[in-house]
Amino acid sequence: MQIADISQDISEVLLTHEQIQAKIQEVADQVSIDYKDKEPLLIAVLKGAVNTMAAFSQALSIHANIDFMSLSSYGSGTSSSGTITVRSDLTTDVRGRHVLIVEDIIDSGITLDWLVKELRARGAASVEIFALLEKPARHEVKVDVKYQGFVIPDKFVVGFGLDYDERYRNLDSIAVLDPKVYQGEQE
Ligand code: 5GP
Repeated sequence: MQIADISQDISEVLLTHEQIQAKIQEVADQVSIDYKDKEPLLIAVLKGAVNTMAAFSQALSIHANIDFMSLSSYGSGTSSSGTITVRSDLTTDVRGRHVLIVEDIIDSGITLDWLVKELRARGAASVEIFALLEKPARHEVKVDVKYQGFVIPDKFVVGFGLDYDERYRNLDSIAVLDPKVYQGEQE
């Protein structure tokens, strides 16, 4: 087993931990006002949004419930297709609930578009979105993001829950991988 320092694989830190925390706190303050008497149900899709969910839920000053879903989307290459299946479902009944989806990153928007429709079909009273990161250049479907974090360029990023081949989720910042990491994989 190779001993490696994660930072050696990073070519550029896009967002530091402090920047991420500050943005999450700013959004959470607004959500705490908007959902004051609503006790929202926060829903995150595994595994990428776990860190965002943890940081965001801790930054709220109101009561909130938390649940997770595991989804898989089948498609060619690195982007999602329209076919999404539920690998592991929520344990909470969303009927009549004010749902806030806590998302790590919106790329094509296909996953989120599916999820919003699904939660509405299940009878949620309202469905809104907080997305920590958004790559507008890659949107294929328009999704209405009420609470926006950072808009980032069209680069593959890792850290703060986001992985490359199940690695880098534990990085506390959001960073661009050094191409040597991918090149190594292709050889
Ligand atoms: P979408 O349906 O919006 O195309 O898919 C969004 C999902 O793709 C995210 O939840 C994330 O799992 C993955 N994804 C999209 N862009 C990136 C990226 O830059 N880095 C990583 N690690 N995952 C990404």
